[in-house]
Amino acid sequence: MGFEKTRILAVANQKGGVGKTTTAINLGTALAAVGRNVLVIDFDAQGNASTGLGITRPERQMTSYDIVVDATPLEEAILETLVPRLHIVPGDENLAGVEMELADDPRRSYRLRDAVRSYANRAAESGLTQYDYILIDCPPSLSSLTINAMTAAHSLLVPLQCEFLALEGLSQLLRTVEVVRNGLNPELDIQGVVLTMYDRRNNLSDQVADEVRAVLGTKVYNTVIPRNVRLSEAPSFGKPALLYDYRCPGSEAYIRLASELLQRERSRR
Ligand code: ATP
Ligand code: MG
Repeated sequence: MGFEKTRILAVANQKGGVGKTTTAINLGTALAAVGRNVLVIDFDAQGNASTGLGITRPERQMTSYDIVVDATPLEEAILETLVPRLHIVPGDENLAGVEMELADDPRRSYRLRDAVRSYANRAAESGLTQYDYILIDCPPSLSSLTINAMTAAHSLLVPLQCEFLALEGLSQLLRTVEVVRNGLNPELDIQGVVLTMYDRRNNLSDQVADEVRAVLGTKVYNTVIPRNVRLSEAPSFGKPALLYDYRCPGSEAYIRLASELLQRERSRR
């Protein structure tokens, strides 16, 4: 049984543009760089994680859409990336139709979980990669895709942008987690909250960071991701920032986040 080996984290926040995809790509890269086998599942119709990891449109033959709608085996959609040990299940605009297509299926929320578990259980026997981490890059909504991700995941990683009203919307996210926990996935918890786009020249960033820490305490990672233009340039080159410029402050922050995450995971066990 391979499933116990794999930790599945949903990178989720229904707010748009808070750094979910940037976190999935660069945290995934940093974890792969220290020897972990990592799979990113692009679960957003925008396909930003796929683009950011250099997967062209023609390469997206099979996507996470096929996984959840047609029960295509995970390995048929998995692609390698430029980063050794970092693989991806790409996403594309078909994902926008998932809500409608699964509307009549009473087990619709379990689609991703079933796919990931059956993969993990087969992996050990059939020589497929056994992933240490699966990071699910969620869309900016609490749609059936996000519910699928929360049902499949052990835990949630929540990026919060250091901006006015950062905590707005978080209570809605936490209520959704509660609903999922009460039915679909009793074990779901919050792995951590990561502050993104921190601007040290802006007092507001500090105020927001303090407020978030006061409310969420130790769930908040010590590592803060700075606002860094290199992080936003890298995707247009189809590369993680860690390959584009591994010494920029954004890359360094994601490397620290990965080591803090691994430490947190060790003390959890
Ligand atoms: P969506 O909700 O649309 O999926 P998201 O939560 O995945 O968005 P990203 O796509 O990661 O957010 O980031 C939104 C934009 O901000 C992107 O253009 C990205 O390149 C940029 N960005 C993300 N993090 C940073 C950062 N720390 N510094 C500067 N720019 C950033
Ligand atoms: Mg995104």
